[in-house]
Amino acid sequence: MTKPQPTVRRDGRSDAFFDAAARGELAIRRCADCAAWHAPETTGCHVCGGASLEWTAASGDAVLITWAKVHPRGDGPAQHIAFVELAEGPWLHAALDGVDSPAAGLALKAAFVGPEDGEPLLVFRTA
Ligand SMILES: [Zn+2]
Repeated sequence: MTKPQPTVRRDGRSDAFFDAAARGELAIRRCADCAAWHAPETTGCHVCGGASLEWTAASGDAVLITWAKVHPRGDGPAQHIAFVELAEGPWLHAALDGVDSPAAGLALKAAFVGPEDGEPLLVFRTA
């Protein structure tokens, strides 16, 4: 990443996500009852109503849905913030890294950038 990033701290509920991120894996939630995939922050299955969501490694493959160009208040480069659709189905909100010309449907791959302080940050790069 080319600009300073916010410091992210784990909060207990996010430990599995950040443990996987440290291994370079994108962990999302999967329903133990019906196998539906969900975004990491999901707490219950909206498909079957089940409450048993397990952390499961996703492929990291995604396509770009929409994005916004965010200009910093001070100096520094603009950054693209996006919604992406994972190959497993859930949509995630994350920064694009090194994507100069975003386009809907662009094939992306999850990656993590490691700031000096705090947890790894999820970004998406051109696949
Ligand atoms: Zn379910």
